[in-house]
Amino acid sequence: MVGTANGSRTPITPRQAFSVVNGGQDPGLRSGPGSIAGSDCGGMEFTREEVDAVLNTKIRTKDKFNLKEKSEMMMDYIKKLRMCVRWYQEFEGGISLEHEKLKKLFESAEKKSNDMERLMNEKEEELNSIIEELRMNYSVLQDKFTKEEAEKLAAIEALVAEKNARMTAERSQAALTEDLEKALRESSSSNQKIISLNDMYKRLQEYNTSLQQYNSKLQTELNLTSETLNKVEREKAALMENLSNLRGYHESQQDQLVSTKVSLEESLKLKDALAGEVGSLRGDLHQVREDRDRQLSLVEDLTAEVVQYKECTGKSAAELSYLTSRSTELEATCALQTDMIKKLQEELAIAEKQLEISDLSSVEIKTGYAEQKKVNSELQIRLAEAESKVIKGEALRKKMHNTILELKGNIRVFCRVRPLLLDDGVENEAKTISFPTTTEAIGRGIEVMQHGQCHPFMFDKVFTPQSSQEEVFVEISQLVQSALDGYKVCIFAYGQTGSGKTHTMMGTPGSYDDKGLIPRSLEQIFEARQKLKEQGWKYEMQVSMLEIYNETIRDLLSSNKSSVADSGSNKQLYAIKHDSNGNTHVSDLTIVDVRSSKEVSFLLNRAGQSRSVGKTQMNEQSSRSHFVFTLRISGVNENMEQHVHGVLNLIDLAGSERLSKSGSTGDRLKETQAINKSLSSLSDVIFALGKKEEHIPFRNSKLTYLLQPCLGGDSKTLMVVNVSPEPSSVNESLCSLRFAARVNACEISIPRRQTSMRYLEPRLSYG
Ligand code: ADP
Ligand code: MG
Repeated sequence: MVGTANGSRTPITPRQAFSVVNGGQDPGLRSGPGSIAGSDCGGMEFTREEVDAVLNTKIRTKDKFNLKEKSEMMMDYIKKLRMCVRWYQEFEGGISLEHEKLKKLFESAEKKSNDMERLMNEKEEELNSIIEELRMNYSVLQDKFTKEEAEKLAAIEALVAEKNARMTAERSQAALTEDLEKALRESSSSNQKIISLNDMYKRLQEYNTSLQQYNSKLQTELNLTSETLNKVEREKAALMENLSNLRGYHESQQDQLVSTKVSLEESLKLKDALAGEVGSLRGDLHQVREDRDRQLSLVEDLTAEVVQYKECTGKSAAELSYLTSRSTELEATCALQTDMIKKLQEELAIAEKQLEISDLSSVEIKTGYAEQKKVNSELQIRLAEAESKVIKGEALRKKMHNTILELKGNIRVFCRVRPLLLDDGVENEAKTISFPTTTEAIGRGIEVMQHGQCHPFMFDKVFTPQSSQEEVFVEISQLVQSALDGYKVCIFAYGQTGSGKTHTMMGTPGSYDDKGLIPRSLEQIFEARQKLKEQGWKYEMQVSMLEIYNETIRDLLSSNKSSVADSGSNKQLYAIKHDSNGNTHVSDLTIVDVRSSKEVSFLLNRAGQSRSVGKTQMNEQSSRSHFVFTLRISGVNENMEQHVHGVLNLIDLAGSERLSKSGSTGDRLKETQAINKSLSSLSDVIFALGKKEEHIPFRNSKLTYLLQPCLGGDSKTLMVVNVSPEPSSVNESLCSLRFAARVNACEISIPRRQTSMRYLEPRLSYG
C-alpha cells in the first residue's frame, strides 16, 4: 500500500482542464482550489508538497513490534489520507461546478455573440438603407449642383450684361458730369454777367438818380426862375406902371430882362437836352432791364437744368452704388471664373496660334496647289501636244512600215527549226542542220547536210531550236498590226507532219510561254484596239474557224455536229463566194463576234475539241487537214471619217510530206492526194503571182480559192516553214526548204490597204 503511494507520485490534478479554463495560465495546485477556497473540506488545504509528504510518509516505529504504536500511527496516516481524499473530492466537485458555470458562461457568451450578430446585421441593413439614402441625396445634390452651375452660368451672363450696363451707365454719367460742368461753367459765367449787369444797373440807377436830382434842381431853379419871372413880371407891371416914369429904368430893366430871357432860354435848352438824355438813359435802362430779365430767366433755366442734372447724377450714382455692390458680389463669384477664363484664353491663344500656323500652312499648300495646277495645266498642254505627235508618229509608222514591207517584198518567208525531242534520237543533229555565223547570214541562213553535201538557204528570218514562241511572235507582230490598219494578212505554217506547225500556230494551250502565234496575235489586236480607241477608232471583230479536209470545208465552230458529217455529201454547204470589195463569204459558216481575247481562246478551245473529235474518228485528221483561222476586223474613225477592213488569216497547213513517204493506200491515199493537190495549188498560185501571169489558178483548190483575196495584190503573206532536225527527215526538210526558197524569190505586188473615206452629209449650219 505504501509502495503504491510511492509509485503514484504525480498528484491527481486536473491541470489540463485548469489551464484551459484559465486561458493557459498554470495556476499550480494552490491557486487551483482557490476558486473553491470557501468550500468545506474540514478547513484543510493541501499543497503538492503536503500531498507528496502524505504519500511519502513511512511508518516507522522504534520498536518493530510495538504494534500499538504502529497502528496508531497508521490510523493517523489513514486520517490524513481520508482528509486528503475528501479535500480532493470537494475540489473535484468545485471543478465540475466551475465547469458548469463556465459552460453556462460560454452559452450566454454565444447567445450574446448571436445577438450581437443579429444586431450587426440589422445595423448593416440600416447602414445600407442610409447609404442608399445618401446615394439618393448625392444624386439630388448632384442635380442641384448642375442646376446651380447652370444658374451660376446664367448669373455670369447676367453679370456680364450688368457689367455692360454699368459701363454704359458710367459712360452716360461721365457725359452727364461733363455736361454738368459745362452748365456750371456757363452758369458761373452768366452769374458773373448778371453781377456785372447788376453793377452796371446800379451805376445807371445812381446816374439816373443823380440826373433826376440834377433835373429836380433844374426844375427848382426853373421854378425859382419862373417865380422870379413872375416877380419880375409883376415888378414889370409895377414897373410898367412906373414905365413911363421909369423908361430909362425900364430900358435898363429890359436889357436885364433880355439877358435873363437868354439865360432862361439857355437853361430851357439845357433842360430839353437833359430831358432827351434822361429819355435815352431810360431806354438804355429799359433795355438793360430786359437784358437782365433774359439773363435771369436763362440763369433760372440753367439752374433748373443743373438741378435736373444733379438729380440725374444722383440717380445714376445710386444705381452705380447698387451696381457696384452687385458687381463686387458677382466679382467674388466671378474671380474663379476669371481664372478659368484666363486658362481658356491661354488655351484659345495657343489654339489660335496653331490655327495661324495651320492657316499659314494652308496658304502655303494653296499656293503649292496653285503652282501644281499651273504645272498640271502645262503638262496637260504638253500631253495634248505629245498625243498629237503620237498620232502623227503612228501615221508615219504605218507609212514607214508599209514602205519597208514593200521594199522587202510582200511575201516573206521565215524558217523555224524545232528542237530535237526525246524520242528523236539526239546524236546526229549537228551534222544534219547548222546555222552559219557569218555577219551576212546570221539569223537568216540555214545549212542542211545531205550525203556529205551542204545545202545553204537564206530566208527573211531563221529561228533556231532555241528560239522561243515570243521571239517568233515579235517578228510577225508588225503583220498583225497591218491587219488592224486594214490589210489582208495571211500567215501560213508549212512543213512536214511533226515539224512544229501546230506548235508554232497554236502552241501549248493554257501555257503562258508556249502560247502560239494565234493567241498572241489576238492579244496584240485587242490591246491595240484599246489604244486606238483613244484616237477615235472603234473596231468590230469576227472570228471563224474551219478545216479543209479532202477538199471539204468543216465548220469548227458549228454547234451542229451532223453538218460536219453531211458536209461531204451536200455540195451546197459552205459555198465560197467573193464580192466586189474582195470580201469572202462562206455560206453557213459560223461567224462569231468577239470582244476580248478571252472569248477567242474559248472559241479556240471549242475548235480544238471539234478537231480532236475528228482526230479519233478520222485517224490523225489534224495533220491531214488545213486549219484556217480567220479574224475579220472592221474599224471606224468618226473623227478622221475613215473605215478600215482588215483580215487576218492564220493557217496551219496539212503535213507536206510526199506520198512515197507515207506509203499509204485507200482512204489514206485519197487524203494524201488531196493534200498534195491543195499544197501544189498553193505553190502554183504563189508562183503564178510571182511571175505576174494573167491567169492565177485560185480555183484549183478549196484552200487557194478561199484565200484568193488574201493572196492577191492587196495582201501581205508570210510563210513559216517548219523543219524537223531529225536526220531521218532530212529529205523532207530539204523539200520544204527548197519550196520555201522558191516562194521567197517571189515578189507578188504592192499590197494595198482597204480603206474608204466616208463623206458625211453637210450639216446645217447655225442660223
Ligand atoms: P505539226 O503540227 O507540224 O505536225 P507539232 O506542232 O504537232 O507538229 O509538233 C510535233 C511535236 O514537236 C509536238 O510534241 C510539239 O510539242 C513539239 N514541238 C514542235 N516545235 C517545238 C518547239 N519549237 N519547241 C518545243 N517543242 C516543239
Ligand atoms: Mg499539226
